[in-house]
Amino acid sequence: MTTLLPPTPAPTPAVPHELLAARTTGPVVVRGDAAYDALVQPWNLAIPVLPDAVLAARTDDDVVEAVRFARAHGLQVTPQATGHGPMASLVGQILVDTKGLDECVVHPEGWARVGAGVKWLRVVEAAAPLGLAPLSGSITDVGVVGYTTGGGLGPMARTHGLASDRVRAFEVVTGDGLLRRVTPTEHPELFFGLRGGKGMLGIVTAVEFDLVRQPTFYGGSLWFDAADAPSVLHRWKSWSDQLPTVATTSFAVFQLPADDPMVPPPLAGRTTVSIRYVWTGDDDEGARWFEAMRNAGPVILDDVATKPYTAIDSVHTDPLDPIPTHEAGTVLRDLPLDAVDALIALTGAGAQSPQILVEVRQLGGAVRDERRGASAFCSRGEGYSLLLVGIAGTPGLQDHGHAVLDAMTPWTGTYRLPNFSFSPEDLVVAYDQPTIARLRAATRTYDPDRVMALGRVLDLD
Ligand SMILES: Cc1cc2nc3c(=O)[nH]c(=O)nc-3n(C[C@H](O)[C@H](O)[C@H](O)COP(=O)(O)OP(=O)(O)OC[C@H]3O[C@@H](n4cnc5c(N)ncnc54)[C@H](O)[C@@H]3O)c2cc1C
Repeated sequence: MTTLLPPTPAPTPAVPHELLAARTTGPVVVRGDAAYDALVQPWNLAIPVLPDAVLAARTDDDVVEAVRFARAHGLQVTPQATGHGPMASLVGQILVDTKGLDECVVHPEGWARVGAGVKWLRVVEAAAPLGLAPLSGSITDVGVVGYTTGGGLGPMARTHGLASDRVRAFEVVTGDGLLRRVTPTEHPELFFGLRGGKGMLGIVTAVEFDLVRQPTFYGGSLWFDAADAPSVLHRWKSWSDQLPTVATTSFAVFQLPADDPMVPPPLAGRTTVSIRYVWTGDDDEGARWFEAMRNAGPVILDDVATKPYTAIDSVHTDPLDPIPTHEAGTVLRDLPLDAVDALIALTGAGAQSPQILVEVRQLGGAVRDERRGASAFCSRGEGYSLLLVGIAGTPGLQDHGHAVLDAMTPWTGTYRLPNFSFSPEDLVVAYDQPTIARLRAATRTYDPDRVMALGRVLDLD
């Protein structure tokens, strides 16, 4: 039975933040200071991130000091890198802004070490000259650590698996205020929990992970008018059922604005369907496989071609600039044609859907593969991910989201993706009971005073 979390503890005006500032190299900015808004503002402009104070960390020791300070004063801390995934009710009184932890070293042998403030774009650009690629996500503007600690499901996931499965080591300041190196053999319970458990156990300062040899890919997005969604998506379903795991695919119903110069004219101001495709093997074979989708209806834009990995953002066409979004989602066990039709009825042409994006990603393939070690990511067996994104404040948006999720109930799976969980009540549904038990036990060892604000998710049952 899920119970609502109690609200975040009230601000404590008596907290001597100047004592923290005296011990850190990065500045400590309190609510009301001129620099505060710019420091705390997340990418998602709709989420209020309102800690009492924010430390712009420059070193690992800064993070240690922030966690020890919070512990000493009975406060909670939250890390933030880019603000792509904050949860308002789980922002502690101290925010640790990790942007200043910006080391990024790519080793020609095929691995990388990056600081907690690094976005995927830097790794992609540093790895590309070596013919290497990280398992980044749908847009390279997302932070490496936030993405990886949530599993990390990217556009090559069916071939190469989850980003969290490629981690060699974390450096993390756990809730007890100690900086630890975590590998499969050093603090194995942290290694388990940090791969899927996000920031519940500590603030990662750096991560080391393997890259894949992927200088190019065959892929991109293929666009149809939403009026053709029934035939296109029926075709996508039967085609994707046959796809080998050298391919990863998803579809999205988009409603892109008419007046945004970044939107290609054929897609602007109308409802469209995008088929996303990444083939990691031989280009000609990838093109042959994709022919069935190219023939699925009248194409309005075809951006599927051989590309360098640096063009990976062209597959999902996610927005780069900060926007105020409201997101909802779930996982699906299966997607029979009845489910496709139910989705189209609520989100397709003529449905008056308030969502700007309705996305279904096919899972399977290497996502299921746990041979690189058990982790707190519990969604390996799910069939699909469903994500709804609207502009926050759009009338009827949340009710519509509920209606879509209700309509998909017959096919809804069990364990949500941690990275597509938007509230504590969502996130707790990402874990099975044995995993919750292991995360709670790890918290008792590494964060006995529950300093990590996200750890409050474990109070839900
Ligand atoms: C446009 C967009 C596209 C996305 N695409 C994908 C995708 O393709 N695949 C996918 O899996 N996810 C995707 N996501 C979700 C994204 O991976 C998560 O929201 C992720 O947490 C973002 O990390 P961040 O550091 O950028 O964001 P932040 O808001 O800075 O951090 C979000 C959370 O990540 C954790 N975290 C961040 N830094 C640390 C740290 N140093 N130590 C411990 N925990 C930390 C914390 O729990 C924190 O609350 C997408 C999100 C957006 C908005």
